[in-house]
Formats: sequence, C-alpha cells, structure tokens
Amino acid sequence: MSSKAPVSTNPDESGPAILGMTSEAFVEASATLGIPKVDALSAYRAFYRQGSITNDWFALEEMPMGRREIEGETIKFTLGLGAGPERRHETESVLIPMQGRSGRRTRTLCVSSQIGCAMGCKFCETAQMGLVRNLSSAQIVAQWFAARHVLGEEVNNIVFMGMGEPMDNIEEVIGAIRVLTDHNGPSIASSRITISTVGRIDGIRRLSKLVAEDGFHRLNLAISVNAPDDGIRNALMPINRAMNMDALREALQAFPLHGGSALLIEYVLIPGVNDSLEHCDRLCEWLEPLRCSLNVIPYNPRRDSPWPAPDEVSVDTFIRRATARGQFTKRRGTKGRDVMAACGQLGNPEIRRKRRPGRDRAS
Ligand code: SAH
Repeated sequence: MSSKAPVSTNPDESGPAILGMTSEAFVEASATLGIPKVDALSAYRAFYRQGSITNDWFALEEMPMGRREIEGETIKFTLGLGAGPERRHETESVLIPMQGRSGRRTRTLCVSSQIGCAMGCKFCETAQMGLVRNLSSAQIVAQWFAARHVLGEEVNNIVFMGMGEPMDNIEEVIGAIRVLTDHNGPSIASSRITISTVGRIDGIRRLSKLVAEDGFHRLNLAISVNAPDDGIRNALMPINRAMNMDALREALQAFPLHGGSALLIEYVLIPGVNDSLEHCDRLCEWLEPLRCSLNVIPYNPRRDSPWPAPDEVSVDTFIRRATARGQFTKRRGTKGRDVMAACGQLGNPEIRRKRRPGRDRAS
C-alpha cells in the first residue's frame, strides 16, 4: 500500500475519476470505455474496500499525504492538492478517538469541505485565511481514503467540521456523501455522517431535500449557534446579519427529523462573551421549540486570540444550568489542542487573508 496514496498508477489518466464517483456513475463511465460492469464494480470495490489503486484505466488525482501531527490518539493530517503555485494548498483532517455507545472505542474523522472559509467567524482560525478554494467531492472523499487506507484506521463517523462552510460548497459535499454512503464503496451509514453549518438557511433547505431521499433520512445536521441573541451573534458571526436567529430557528423547525434523531446545536463557550448563566437561560429559551442536543465546546484559542480558553468551573456551571433547565447537553472534548487540531483551529498560518487597515480586526 502506498504511503503517498491516493496517487494514480494510470499514466495517461484517460479513464473516469474513481474518487468522487458513486459506483453507479463509475460503472456507467467505465462502460463507455468498453469495460464490463463486473470488472468496473470489482475495481470500485477493491479500491474502496482494500485501498487497491492498481488499475489500468481509472484516473486518480495526485493528493500526496503531507504533514501528520499526533497528540495522544488524535491524528491531524494534510493532503496536498494540485501542482505549481497551487501546490501549497492542503486539505486538513483530524481523526479523533471517541468513546462510543456501549463503551466501545470508535473513531471520528473530521473532514474539510473547503480550504479556508468565507464566513469570517471571529473565534475561528480557519476564518483568518479567508476562502482559498472549494474542494471537489473527490478531494473530500480522498480525506476518508487517506484515513482508512493510508493511515489504516477504521472510521466510524464522519463530521464536516474541518475547514470550510459546507453549505457554501453544498453540491460537492452532497456528492461526497453519496460516495461515502455507497454500498459498493465506503458504505458508511448516513446516520454516522454530520454536516455542521454556521446556519445558512438556503443550505439547510437544500439538505432537507437530500434527507427526504431514501437512505439519507438519518443524516445529521449540526448548527453552530454560539450565542444567545442576535446582538452577540452579530458580533461573532457575520452570517447572522444576513440570516438572524429567528429566521434560523424557523428553518430548523422545518428540517425533517426522522426516527429518534435530533438536531445538534453547537455552542462555543467564550469567556466574558457568551458564558454567563443569563446567556445560558436565554439560549435554552431559544432552543425550547427544537428537538435538539446541545453540544458545549470550550473555546480553543486560535492564533492571536483575543480571548483565553474558559476554565473548567465555568464550562461545568454552564452545562449544569442547561441540563437543570431540561436541555439535553453534552460537552465536547478539546482533543488535539496542542497541535492546533481541535475545533476551530485548522488553517495554514502562512495563508492569511490580506489585512486591510481598519477592517478585519478581531472584535
Ligand atoms: N463552518 C461549519 C463547520 C466548521 S467549524 C460551522 O461553522 O459549523 C466546526 C465547529 O467548530 C463549529 O461549531 C464552530 O463554531 C466551532 N469552532 C470554531 N472555532 C472554534 C474555536 N476556536 N474553538 C472551539 N470551537 C470552534
């Protein structure tokens, strides 16, 4: 198995690309080259199940494994994209060990949907880069391929919580999900995939349509709320000025929840900004009509952060208050903080948005 996969062994790369395609699309594209369905399917299965990249017809984009940083059992890794001046563009992904239900140890893979991000959230490292580019379905699926077949790890869950706003690149994200759930491919249940958004309402509606399709009912939606009211949210997340919390909640109420599933509400707890008991009460009131689980994320300081991380006592107090109000609440760990692999810490400090005087200042 190559340590540099996914790397093509097909010298002329004339055939269909295998990484961003469902098995159905791959079989169809291979047929135009005269390749029988059985052969195309068996190559597809061998590729996704065994990581076999030996072939003489399909095309594979060069995405060499770059840096690997390890903190405990958390692994952050990058994949290089393109050639020439684009060469320093890299995807960033994080494999995180989790304690599964029934105490079993599982692994969650956090993938990027973009390099950089256009959303400009004040607390997030990735926002400091601005948007560099969207990733294709293939480049998203490659992150899973690298975790599974280059690092050799089992991946139980996938969360779109790496670099980027998935709703800003929704068609490629959906394309990737179709591949990740493909029964001839990675075969990951949609209930084990979570898309996290700043709360782009058009994207939430688009996802509602996907969730209505068979096989996708249990896909999870996570929303980064991060504030108890519009005033605080406007200051932290520019998206809120276009789509405020009332509009957001309406869109969330319209999102179809199947079976026992619930929305996942993310709340980054930032000292002195959104962490008081009063903030907690107002948040819980806003959450009242939603079937949701609240995930409190202790703020991970980004580079040049104006705020420190919250202390244990304030995280605990906030969570206990929400729980006492009847809100199901969990705490998210801070794994990978020391290697800048924790939530909101992905991004290449060498690629920073050009600062314009008087603008882009951390508030
Ligand atoms: N753009 C998407 C997904 C990427 S961020 C979104 O906003 O949801 C994934 C999660 O990390 C979000 O909930 C975000 O609010 C959170 N986050 C961002 N910066 C953080 C930081 N510095 N510390 C802790 N969590 C952070």
